[in-house]
This record gives sequence, C-alpha cells and structure tokens, in this order.
Amino acid sequence: MPRLSEVIAALDALWPPSRAEQWDAVGTVCGDPDAEVSRVLFAVDPVQDIVDEAVKLGADLVVAHHPLYLRGTTTVEAGTFKGRVVHTLIKNDIALHVAHTNADTADPGVSDALAGALDLRITGPLVPDPTDSQGRRGLGRICELDHPETLRAFAERAAARLPRTAQGIRVAGDPEALVRTVAVSGGSGDSLFDQVRAAGVDVFLTADLRHHPVSEARERGPLALVDAAHWATEWPWCEQAAAQLDAISERHGWGLRTHVSRTVTDPWTVHAPSDLPSSSSSISGAPN
Ligand SMILES: [Zn+2]
Repeated sequence: MPRLSEVIAALDALWPPSRAEQWDAVGTVCGDPDAEVSRVLFAVDPVQDIVDEAVKLGADLVVAHHPLYLRGTTTVEAGTFKGRVVHTLIKNDIALHVAHTNADTADPGVSDALAGALDLRITGPLVPDPTDSQGRRGLGRICELDHPETLRAFAERAAARLPRTAQGIRVAGDPEALVRTVAVSGGSGDSLFDQVRAAGVDVFLTADLRHHPVSEARERGPLALVDAAHWATEWPWCEQAAAQLDAISERHGWGLRTHVSRTVTDPWTVHAPSDLPSSSSSISGAPN
C-alpha cells in the first residue's frame, strides 16, 4: 500500500503545483504524509457532503478540484463550515489534496475532460501555455464537431452528456445557426471572450456567464454562448483524474481503489423556467 506522500508525488507529477496561478491555493490541505492510502475519492468541491461521503466510503484521501481555503484563514474551529470539513477529515484520518488551476491547464486537463464528455475533437488550447513546446497545455480547448449541427442540437448534446443539474444549459444565440467549431473552458470562462473571439469559433461553452459580457458578445455577433452549471463543466475531470491515478496505481502495483463522487455539489438547486415561448422578445402582459 502506498504512503500518502507517494500518492501526492504522483498527483503532483500530473498537475505540477508550480503551474497553478499565483492567487491559487493548491496542494495538500491536511493529511499525514506517512499514512497508508488504499481508497481515493475524487470530487469537484471539498464541502461537507463530500467529506461525509468519504467517511462512509472509508476513503483515505479526497482529491478535490476547488480549494478549501483560497484566501487563507486564522481558524479551523469546527463551528465554521470549513472548520467542520477539516475536523471531519482529520478525525477520520482522511487527507485532502487540491488540484485547481494546475489541473485546468494540464495535458490532459479539465477542459480536455469537458470536450471528451461532449465527444468534441480537440485541435488545441484556447490560451496556450507559452512554456509548453508541444503546444498542448493551456487554458480552455478549441474543438471541432465531426458533423456540423444546429446550436439547438449542440445545447441538447451538452444537456445529455454533462451531469444533470438544476440549472441545465442556457444558450445565447440563434438556435438554428450551424455549429462547426467550439471553444470550451471548464468553470468560469467570463474572462476569455477576447481569446474566444480571436479563435473565430462558432460557440463558446463555459459556466458562470454574466449579462454584460454575453450581451456585448451577442451584439458583436455571431458568436453563440452556451452556459452550463460550473460544477457540471468540471465534473468530467474527476473521472479523467481517477482514470489517471488508476493507471499509475496499476504501474506501481499499489492496488488503489478510486471512486468518483456523483453527489451534485452545484449550489443551485431549483430552476423554474419562465412560461414564455422561447422566441418571445417582449414581456407578456406589459404595456408597449
Ligand atoms: Zn471551478
């Protein structure tokens, strides 16, 4: 059975912490480097539901995408929700390790998993990492569809292939427009509009899109936007990461058991669609 330090070294080789953004907080949050690891749980969010799941599962390590403490803290008192997470982990001998922006830009990274879930053919990164001579690492991915389809069909593909959430899929653009090329970026892609436009793709699929950037992008046309739940765009990475650790475990004869949490930790819980025809462009019942 491997020690935690050996498993972490393998994970750090997949997603080197030095490649994380400056503002990020990646790496091991808690855990004894000498403890033995036999079961690993992968999840997007290190929240209480996930650590409770890890306890039930008998996991020794949780690998999460999002940091627990991004901005530092002065307390892990169990009355705070993050402190309770830390207490639950330590009391149950469970380590927590975070791979965030270092996993976003990796090869393969978060957006490779997202593109893979949608069966898109990747042609390269959206924002290439200049230090990668092979041109494979970087933020987001530019992809092609094997067969062009309408924006409506593409949105339906995203809804069917990504894990189910209350939010579902939101689309900005002409539903009948043809989609041949797509940029994808797991998580919040609001800051990437310039690069997406420079890439000249038909659609940008990401999460957390806001009114003004979307409105301005649509006014400049013809780029269409597809907005999925943040959690749903990053969850495919958990399966990819678990498969990567499985392969490492097999190579070393570690016999690790890996699990991917299916708990939906997207914070949005209800989506009540307005009762309006989708083509409606005026407020029903409002004076003209
Ligand atoms: Zn995220």
